Amino acid sequence: MTKLEQIYEGKAKKVFRTDDPERFIVSYKDDATAFDGKKKGTIMGKGVINNRMTNYLMQMLESKGIPTHFVEELSDRDTVVKKVEIVPLEVIIRNISAGHFAQRYGVEEGIVFEEPVIEFSYKNDALGDPLLNSYHARALKLATKEEIETIKDLAFRVNEALKEFFLSVNIRLVDFKLEFGRTSDGTIILADEISPDTCRLWDKDTDEKLDKDRFRRDLGNVEGAYQEVMRRIGLG
Ligand code: UDP
Repeated sequence: MTKLEQIYEGKAKKVFRTDDPERFIVSYKDDATAFDGKKKGTIMGKGVINNRMTNYLMQMLESKGIPTHFVEELSDRDTVVKKVEIVPLEVIIRNISAGHFAQRYGVEEGIVFEEPVIEFSYKNDALGDPLLNSYHARALKLATKEEIETIKDLAFRVNEALKEFFLSVNIRLVDFKLEFGRTSDGTIILADEISPDTCRLWDKDTDEKLDKDRFRRDLGNVEGAYQEVMRRIGLG
């Protein structure tokens, strides 16, 4: 499959058109941003890790019946995906308090929830990705009622599969962000990425952070933490 012109450049990935109208190629970069793009940096080798980890996890999820955009890994940084229209919602699942949840509600990090929490924000950089609920999402026509039900159901199933998988390599899945897309026939499938950029991953025994919080909070050894997750998964 041939990469044609670039149609989009995001903070961590570029998207290219291909000779197949139903396929895109995504290309993962080493660029890292945090705090609505106010903090910028480079995490050496991150693009390669996030590409390979995402593809591995997407295939694992497919094997459990979750539809994803994954088609084929082309190289270290490039992957063929199904063409979708991204639903402009950031879907966040939380198993343990951290990050914005802890800040917003004034609680400490590390509280284990009895049930996972789902949260949506409006994917809109200019507005700072404001938190919203499913009624807001419908009022703004971001998704239909049926699409939101499908997204919730898939997100909780993804959580169960990922939680179990990460626990098997001694990692606690604290929280993560998903994005979904619509294929040309309107089917909702999982899109975007699943990586230490989009998940909080804590070592099960020590609570050591193995994710982008090392970059956000200047904890050092960011590359080493991403590589450690790869090593545990058996990809490093
Ligand atoms: N997250 C993400 N992209 C975003 C916002 C959040 O991938 O634009 C992920 C983040 O890495 C974490 C989870 O979603 O695993 C919950 O993030 P939170 O709302 O606590 O905000 P953050 O502190 O990450 O800005």
